[in-house]
Amino acid sequence: MKKIHMVDLQSQYQQIKDVVDTSIQEVLNSSAYINGPYVKEFQKDLEEYLGVKHVIPCANGTDALQIAMMGLGLKPGDEVITVDFTFAATVEVIGLLNLTPVLVDVEEDTFNMSIDALKNAITPKTKAIVPVHLFGQCANMEAILEVAKAHNLFVIEDNAQAIGADYTFSNGHTQKSGSIGHVGTTSFFPSKNLGCYGDGGAIFTNDDELAHTLRGMVNHGMYKRYYHDVVGVNSRLDSIQAAVLKAKLPHLDTYCEARRKAAMYYSDAFLENPNILTPVISSFSTHVFHQYTLRITNGKRDALHQHLLDQGIPNAIYYPVPLHAQKAYMDERYKEEDFVTTNKLVQEVISLPMHTELDEEQLEFISSTINSFIN
Ligand SMILES: *Cc1c(COP(=O)(O)O)cnc(C)c1O
Repeated sequence: MKKIHMVDLQSQYQQIKDVVDTSIQEVLNSSAYINGPYVKEFQKDLEEYLGVKHVIPCANGTDALQIAMMGLGLKPGDEVITVDFTFAATVEVIGLLNLTPVLVDVEEDTFNMSIDALKNAITPKTKAIVPVHLFGQCANMEAILEVAKAHNLFVIEDNAQAIGADYTFSNGHTQKSGSIGHVGTTSFFPSKNLGCYGDGGAIFTNDDELAHTLRGMVNHGMYKRYYHDVVGVNSRLDSIQAAVLKAKLPHLDTYCEARRKAAMYYSDAFLENPNILTPVISSFSTHVFHQYTLRITNGKRDALHQHLLDQGIPNAIYYPVPLHAQKAYMDERYKEEDFVTTNKLVQEVISLPMHTELDEEQLEFISSTINSFIN
């Protein structure tokens, strides 16, 4: 059996090596390392793929969130609602901009923003909602947009984990994740579903004016060379990363399909296990399985984590600590009873190896090892 990796970037690279190597060599030959032609080409390709008017490439997914919030004109004291159960980047940028983070609990089945908790968290100071499409499937955007509309709030989709997912509204209309709110953001960190070979990110919007603001903001607030209209940041996608992404984007749907296939294998294998809950796929979103995350309900999650490592099966706990309990983000405003689901999930979740190159022998070994340990 091949060695099992949590993510397998090497085998994936080998399959597209020719085009990636040629494109990178082209950038090297051109010396257009920043803002070269590949950046513009990838931007156009991604706009088309997502069905969105504007893609603004930037340096990473965390910057994308920060710049989106800057572009929307959020001001210190404004409250921004996001989830307690996500990667810290989401709340980090809210703090960095001196906005007030308001963390809310998640739904027990999908791990995405709880609509009841969202409604309860709204105050006159609320300005924006940041749903995170966690592990690869969309939050309940229709409900979130409805709440946003009623209270005149911005919706910023943190789409770092779900690029490629499709969201279907109750009227049957389908849109790509990240293209649904006022603005969407993503990350091209190597292990993400569409990853480059370094850092990268992007912001999406259908709003022409906001797109113009954001394009200047990523480049020192410059709209005309050496004229600085607003305080911006230096956050660009470099040409080499854009060349890699342009080569990989045409494969994104195939990559998502390969992940889905591995996920289905796992879910079938755990179907009969009374102590394992497999990922729930909601009726309104496809799942692109950035992570395949189980819930171990008999209290043996930590023991399983170690047992799998001992068997040479990598695995990870995303995420072990709720954000409201992290030193950097603790606040007297938070009450434990408001985070019942997140507090439970952090004890139960475990993410299994998930990438485009898992074969049946590996999937069988991983699932049978888990089934014999958890029974
Ligand atoms: C990865 C990730 C980010 C940050 O992206 P970087 O490119 O690493 O800065 C933000 N939000 C979520 C949910 C992520 O998974």
